[in-house]
Amino acid sequence: MLNTLDTAIFTLALILCVGGLYRMWGRIRLGAPEDRSDAPAKRRSYLLSALLGHRKIRKEGVEGRNHYWLFLAFLAMLLLIVIAQLPISLPWWIAGPIALLVDILGFLGFLGVLLLAKRRYFEKPDRLDEKFEDSWGLLLLILLFATGLLLTGMRIAVAGDVWNIWHPIGFLVSLLLPAKLSAALVGWVWRIHLLLIVATIALLPFGKLSHVIFGAMNIYFRNRGPKGAFSALDIENSEVFGVGQVEHFTWKQLLDLEACVRCGRCQSRCPAHNTGKELNPKQVIQDLRSHLVAKAPAIRKGEGDSYETPMIDGGGVSQEQIWDCTTCRACMEICPMEIEHVDKIVDMRRYMVLMEGQMPEELILLNKNMENNFNPWGVGWSDRNNWMARRGVSPRILSEEENPNFDILFWVGCAGSFDDRYQRVVASVCRILDRAGVSYGVLGMDEKCCGDPARSTGNEYLYQSMVMENIAAMDKLGVTKIVTSCPHCLKTLDKEYPQFDGNYEVVHHSEFIQGLIDDGKIKLNGELPGRFTLHDSCYLSRYAGITDAPRTVLAEAGVKDLAEMERNLENNFCCGAGGGKMFMEEEGERINVNRTKEALSTGADTICTACPFCLTMIGDGVKAEKKEEEVSVLDMAEIVEKAMV
Ligand code: SF4
Ligand code: SF4
Repeated sequence: MLNTLDTAIFTLALILCVGGLYRMWGRIRLGAPEDRSDAPAKRRSYLLSALLGHRKIRKEGVEGRNHYWLFLAFLAMLLLIVIAQLPISLPWWIAGPIALLVDILGFLGFLGVLLLAKRRYFEKPDRLDEKFEDSWGLLLLILLFATGLLLTGMRIAVAGDVWNIWHPIGFLVSLLLPAKLSAALVGWVWRIHLLLIVATIALLPFGKLSHVIFGAMNIYFRNRGPKGAFSALDIENSEVFGVGQVEHFTWKQLLDLEACVRCGRCQSRCPAHNTGKELNPKQVIQDLRSHLVAKAPAIRKGEGDSYETPMIDGGGVSQEQIWDCTTCRACMEICPMEIEHVDKIVDMRRYMVLMEGQMPEELILLNKNMENNFNPWGVGWSDRNNWMARRGVSPRILSEEENPNFDILFWVGCAGSFDDRYQRVVASVCRILDRAGVSYGVLGMDEKCCGDPARSTGNEYLYQSMVMENIAAMDKLGVTKIVTSCPHCLKTLDKEYPQFDGNYEVVHHSEFIQGLIDDGKIKLNGELPGRFTLHDSCYLSRYAGITDAPRTVLAEAGVKDLAEMERNLENNFCCGAGGGKMFMEEEGERINVNRTKEALSTGADTICTACPFCLTMIGDGVKAEKKEEEVSVLDMAEIVEKAMV
């Protein structure tokens, strides 16, 4: 139990802590409303498993484990503080194991924080920047754990504690300490230890340590909707489209800013940052936060609109950063705080396009193409069905009158319809479906771009108009199940069309083909010579969570030598095409070339993809590396067709 003075000091520290947290919460509340109150029980259990499991960062190996030990030690410390306040003595069979746990975790926490400090100050990884708050935060924790261990050791040295069986680490420390010296200093060490605890509590909101509160809150309030679906704008009733001022972000988006611990994991995975572009997702979050902190007093006074520094191209982010993003989601996948970078970037794009009419020149053409011809390349709409004759396939073109009965709609996509190279892939898919006897058809001229390039580049108005037309065409035919070979169409049709009452079962061709193989509807010869590598598409691996099916299908097709790239599965490196970047010029090192070099370094003679954008980008990368004579770039459907018997 604490004496009156200690209790007063603790109370003061708590007041400072709560006051600081309240100030931060006050900034978060400046955001627009958003409902994240659904499924509280599921949110609680997710938070608990995220905290106790530390799933994301433990995957990283040593560094992740160090943080995990530190976290557990922190919990143990809290437990000890609570127990110390109990007015009763616990029986030995409860107190003993708790003491053992605290002793061991305290030591592991001490080691963990030392190793984290070593990493920060000696190994200096690029992703970590340095601020004063980092130094004092680490120093505070090192001293806190060190004095805790010393204190236990001194107490054992002085008293010859009969319970030292429950303090093995403390006992080892006590062997180094003379009893007399310990007796003289133990009171002082206890006071210093107490002051360090008080300082940690008081300073919690003023540095990185605040993530123990706001990080946990952010994980609790994470988006539980379909993974990667962008929010639908209310075109009819909104006065402002997208986000042009920091207070246009919702409170949850502002909570993201406070939850960031500047760990830089997002930056280390970002394809734009890794190829020298201006965009750095960590910096975006940090700069938006600085802008929020600076602007908050003006917003509170109701003077947000007249604040002199604009958020975009002023105090927060630049337009260049906003347009650098490929929406690959690598940042979000790795962020331990579940911060939602991509949604913010798309919201700012929406503002630039719909409110300011500002966008890169290439996007003006892209929008015009989609408005006039319903495809991003701008090929005449009337040519939409020409791919069938060109590639020698004749899928049924569905219509109410002529082909009312079918099981599957094959969504061809704009690349399948208009891109010379990808037409071959959709033709392969058709031949596979024909061979398997699948009852399917295509929409033909009634299929318009699914809308992905419009939505991800901020033109929500155009996006919604195409969505409504596609839904009308599909509902007229009674479509219930769709197969598509494009992961961008997959994400849009599956996760975003339900926002507009377009509800269908949507399957990527990799999973559908796997089903055909499993059901024995197609037979493969099981022998494909040569070395292969597989480039995972961001929209397939991270948005749809599909990484097994392409590998299983390749194995079934007879690929014996699949050389994996280091950046694979859900940690894959983007091809550089998403978020409309396929249609924009790229400065500096090209993302697709960076990725292609990695693919070529496996020694593969075939690079396999499962996305039309990836096929084009990796194909261009192979040409840029002058390897097109030696290395083929194929879609997995083409490989399956080759292997069919
Ligand atoms: S956004 Fe997430 S991953 Fe990036 S620095 Fe912040 S906490 Fe780390
Ligand atoms: S989505 Fe991809 S490109 Fe965009 S910020 Fe995140 S990691 Fe970078």
